[in-house]
Amino acid sequence: MSEHQGSCHCGAIRLTLRDQPEEAGDCDCSLCRRTGGLWHYCSPSLVTVEGDAEGYVQGDCMITTWHCGMCGCTTHWTSIDLEYDRMGVNLRMFNPSLWQDLPRRFIDGASF
Ligand SMILES: [Zn+2]
Repeated sequence: MSEHQGSCHCGAIRLTLRDQPEEAGDCDCSLCRRTGGLWHYCSPSLVTVEGDAEGYVQGDCMITTWHCGMCGCTTHWTSIDLEYDRMGVNLRMFNPSLWQDLPRRFIDGASF
C-alpha cells in the first residue's frame, strides 16, 4: 500500500495518507475558496493526523475544518457525524509530485 507523508508549513501537524489520490477536488464553497485547499476524500481509517490542529465549524456545515495554530495552513476536515466514513485531506500539504498532475474535479460547493 502506498503511504504519503505531508505536513503544514511549520511541521507541527503531520499527515500520513495510506491511499493513492486519483483526482484533486477543487471546491468553491465559501470556506474552500478562501483557504484554497485541494481535497482528497477517503475514510478516516486511511489517515493519521499527528499534532494539535485547531478546528473551525462553519455555521451551516457538518464538518470541522482543521488548521495549524502556528502557521495557519488548512490541513484537513473531518465529519462531525462520526458515522460518516469520510474525511478530506488537503493535498497541498503533500509533495507536489503527489497531486500536481492529477485531474481536478470541480466541486460546486457554492450552490448548496
Ligand atoms: Zn504549522
